[in-house]
Amino acid sequence: MTNTHTHRLDLDDPTLREWDATVVGVNERGIVLDRSAFYPGGGGQPPDEGVLLWGGVRTRIVGTSKGDDLYLVPNEGDPVPQPGTQVRGALDDERRTALMRTHSGLHVLTGVVFRDFGALVTGGNMEPLTARMDFDLAEVPPDFKDRVAQACNDEIARDRAIQVQTLPRDEAFAIPDIIRTATNLLPPDIEVVRIVDIVGLDAQADGGTHVASTKQIGGLEVVKMENKGRGFRRLRVRITGT
Ligand SMILES: [Zn+2]
Repeated sequence: MTNTHTHRLDLDDPTLREWDATVVGVNERGIVLDRSAFYPGGGGQPPDEGVLLWGGVRTRIVGTSKGDDLYLVPNEGDPVPQPGTQVRGALDDERRTALMRTHSGLHVLTGVVFRDFGALVTGGNMEPLTARMDFDLAEVPPDFKDRVAQACNDEIARDRAIQVQTLPRDEAFAIPDIIRTATNLLPPDIEVVRIVDIVGLDAQADGGTHVASTKQIGGLEVVKMENKGRGFRRLRVRITGT
């Protein structure tokens, strides 16, 4: 990340939903805080939404803009706090929690499809509680969809810990899973790599927010599989109750 002014509270503690901060900059791109828990989007996970509260005023935050700083985009027409203003930030908890469960669910899916079918992820997209993942898989067994769903829900029920750590590049790339998922994705000049490890199932270089263990995902339903071309399989999934 190239954020020069914002300390990323979301990376320190993905369970944080409210915090105090000071506005350190405002321009046409948005509002810059000294400390923020708004996930700015990336790695397939959409940005958070929420509010800034200050002096009885509410500024709705509807998106983010990344550049030389991390900008929070205010809802059009809402009052905007000027630099120096003390604000209370609050995330839309329902949206963020759903996105954490969905993101972790997709890592379970990635781990299962590689472990059981040898297939690599080629793309994906997520919204709260719904997602698609694309895989490269030449031969599809007839019961593929059901086997994937069963294995994912077994891993969720196993309640595997989901651990986040930051490692020097060389150490990170010594983990076989990381080589499989990230070798071609990480810029060559990156010095430390954030690893999200579903212990015993899947480790990936990842900047997103995750639940602490797989049981918190709830359940995973494979809605359908689409064949998009040679070896190109698209799974549509839904995250269900906790
Ligand atoms: Zn991820």
